[in-house]
Amino acid sequence: MPAISETILDFTSFHVGYCSGPLAMTQRGAPWRIGRFPAGIAVLRHPVRGTILFDTGYGKLFGEATAAFPERIYRWLTPVTFDADDSLPKQLQKRGIAQPDLVFLSHLHADHVSGLFDLHAIPPVITSRQAIEKLTATRLATLKAGCPALIRDKLQSLNLQAVESLPCVSLATYGLEAFGNGYDLLGDQSALVVELPGHGFGQTGLFLPATTQGAIFLVADAIWSLEALRQNRLPPDMTLRRLGDRNAFLEIFAKLRAFHLANPQVRIMASHCMEAYPLNSHGERG
Ligand SMILES: [Zn+2]
Repeated sequence: MPAISETILDFTSFHVGYCSGPLAMTQRGAPWRIGRFPAGIAVLRHPVRGTILFDTGYGKLFGEATAAFPERIYRWLTPVTFDADDSLPKQLQKRGIAQPDLVFLSHLHADHVSGLFDLHAIPPVITSRQAIEKLTATRLATLKAGCPALIRDKLQSLNLQAVESLPCVSLATYGLEAFGNGYDLLGDQSALVVELPGHGFGQTGLFLPATTQGAIFLVADAIWSLEALRQNRLPPDMTLRRLGDRNAFLEIFAKLRAFHLANPQVRIMASHCMEAYPLNSHGERG
């Protein structure tokens, strides 16, 4: 295994479907017009550990899981555009990327996990212990937590590995000491799991010190856009109230902003950020 920082991960990112909703729900002062929010994912290729996915976007299962009530409400709130031609396996294939060897899920919201079930074979999947524990919630509670029952059941049938079982590492070397300790995903500190609580249950992100596109911090839904972080614009109260833990969200937002100001060279990628995952008017990559 290469020593710390010797590994340069090959980095690719794209979106797997998108949803639509009022921009004003994600950022104070934003207009009420309907915006599009890509379901962004990342593919990391490691010389020894193979292909690793960071989240999986939308998939066929989302349609099935939200066909009946009460789950159908999810579709009403955030109408989804997902074309089977742009499914996760098809997009991987188009880019010449092999079947993944590992899937890392930032959190278990349907727009991050549905695509997993379109893969021809499901590789080992890793996510946080808190996210795994919340899978025992009732049908309504799991829906409220962003994971319709059918998707919850499919996730439960997998042997999910907890991030906390990975070796613990100090994040101070990377200027991330405010986030506590991290976990070493691939055994050589080329991908560090960072806890980003507040949005959903047990959300985590990945800090990648060295990739083919420079240093990258995949922050999942800890922020909706980089613009919001730059301008220090929080989501409105009605959105904050619906999050897993409002205070934790605010704390993480402030820490990310401080990190961004101190480390502008690190590319911060939020899963639904148009800067990270540009869409043109047809919803295709711009
Ligand atoms: Zn989410």
